[in-house]
Amino acid sequence: MSDETAPGVATVPAVGVAPAATAMRTHLCGELRAAHDGQQVRLCGWVARRREHGEHLAFVDLRDRSGLVQCVVDGSVDVRTEWVVAVDGTVRRRPEGTRNPDLPTGDVELGDCTVTVLNRADTPPFPLDERTETDEAARLRFRYVDIRRARMQRNLRLRAAMVAAMRRAMDEQGFCEVETPLLWTPTPEGAREFAVPSRLHHGDFYVLPQSPQIAKQLLMVGGFDRYYQVARCLRDEDLRADRQFEFTQLDLEMSFVEPADVHAAVSRAVTAALAAAEAGDGSSVDLAGGDGAAPRRSAEALGADGDVLTLTWREAMDRYGTDKPDLRIPGALVDLSPVFAGSEVRAFQAPVVKGLCHPGGAALGRNRLDGLVDRAKQLGAKGLAWFKVAGSAGDVLLESPLAKFLSDAERDALLAAAGAVPGDLVLAVADEWRTACEVLGALRLELGRMPVSEGGRRLCWVTEFPLFDGVDEDGRPAAAHHPFTMPHPEDLDRLESDPLSVRSLAYDLVLNGWELGSGSIRVHREDVQRRIFDALGIAPDEAEARFGFLLGAFRYGAPPHGGFAVGVDRLVALAAGEENIREVIAFPKTQSGTDLMTGAPNPLDPRQLRELGLAPRPGR
Ligand code: ASP
Repeated sequence: MSDETAPGVATVPAVGVAPAATAMRTHLCGELRAAHDGQQVRLCGWVARRREHGEHLAFVDLRDRSGLVQCVVDGSVDVRTEWVVAVDGTVRRRPEGTRNPDLPTGDVELGDCTVTVLNRADTPPFPLDERTETDEAARLRFRYVDIRRARMQRNLRLRAAMVAAMRRAMDEQGFCEVETPLLWTPTPEGAREFAVPSRLHHGDFYVLPQSPQIAKQLLMVGGFDRYYQVARCLRDEDLRADRQFEFTQLDLEMSFVEPADVHAAVSRAVTAALAAAEAGDGSSVDLAGGDGAAPRRSAEALGADGDVLTLTWREAMDRYGTDKPDLRIPGALVDLSPVFAGSEVRAFQAPVVKGLCHPGGAALGRNRLDGLVDRAKQLGAKGLAWFKVAGSAGDVLLESPLAKFLSDAERDALLAAAGAVPGDLVLAVADEWRTACEVLGALRLELGRMPVSEGGRRLCWVTEFPLFDGVDEDGRPAAAHHPFTMPHPEDLDRLESDPLSVRSLAYDLVLNGWELGSGSIRVHREDVQRRIFDALGIAPDEAEARFGFLLGAFRYGAPPHGGFAVGVDRLVALAAGEENIREVIAFPKTQSGTDLMTGAPNPLDPRQLRELGLAPRPGR
């Protein structure tokens, strides 16, 4: 008799296994153990596999949400894979030598079974085992079958456990869960919005919320002090691996706070979620990130919440060339400007020279190096200098087209600044500060990129983002986060004179190079909010028409407040070791925004269109 683990068996966190009994069954498949020996039980589930041994013996591996158990039928049994059945039988220990250590129920089997067919099933569109690679389009089309598979069972249960842990953490911290409307009004948060035509007011539209941003600020005006919501957000933007039209955020807002208070509350929820994931999947949580440099730590976010590294945006850019540093990758950017301050080499005569040491990179071949140079140019650099460090500790040599232009002192200073030893590769970009940082940051990522499941979990806070992110086509500053973000108090007087230099009280939480979420301290005074709208080019009457309700609320006692939103899909994907958030969403859309199962988006029938005051499209 075959005794392998049958296809489709799920190893899932033991979330919600009990209670098992219903009117139709006494136990779940996956809970049976030697202690049940001799008990008469009734199970219900799907046939994972059936094996006949002549006319007198058949094995049915029965699967339900808790796992799988082997059922032995004395005689033949007319069932097929994925039929839904009830099985009556007696739990018995398996004979010595036939136990299956890979199966939690592998010490026992169900003997003397009677199988009752509850529902037949067509042959599944693809095998449900983990070994078969199935085309994603088929998986999405038959998602209800796909989510029976161990991977999706594990991921969706992991998600449920993580969300439950976050809810617990928020409740324990005195947050109150409040639901905010899905039928909402446009808000200037940067994303394109989905519109919903009104049946009662032809020609008018609701929009689906990009986030509960304004609603949660109004809850603060309303005296809630600590709000949270596991909120669905909707954005009509191009989809990619870490983006869907609809996604879930742990959204929160707090009154009378500074950034550190928000960080502490968020850290506690995120660490609780990761701890729940760890309990489920066994991988470790490493909260103390970093490259060995000694950045400032956010003391307020420590304690029970773990030790989370905090970098200002400027520090993050300077050290990692990105506002989403992947701290699993060793090494950081260094400042080479002093090394080349007196250099004759024209290429180094720039506002700054930044460097990056790639350990072991001296082994890279010429093609790969040329590729890096091309990539740096594509990213906007004028060029990329590279230096292979050769020789031995006492007698170091540099191999590079530029080596002959460097004095011994420059060479030694370069090696010391980069922390390079023989075998390493040093890259240098001379340019404007931001370009030099961004180019080397991108190369650091390309050279060190690793799968999401490797290298532990490295969280960090990035704070003090610029208030504005460049200028739009009309030369107006564009909001970097959203226009409700509080300018840094030290920079407020430059809001009109030098807006691009103004820092904000906005912050992001980053995990392994993924932005897990963002938030800020908000503007709570009408005069400051009007100045920001003004800087963004939103005229007073337009501001009044679009956000009069918010500006009005600010006149009725708005407390200082701030908040955050954690991207739940990304957090779960990272914890599950999945590169794509579709793997942690029950019914996701494809990259082109379609639902392969329902066919949505679909045409509406003409009657419904008429009710909404919309005209059918010609030709439909
Ligand atoms: N509403 C913001 C967002 O969705 C988060 C926040 O600032 O709280 O990104």
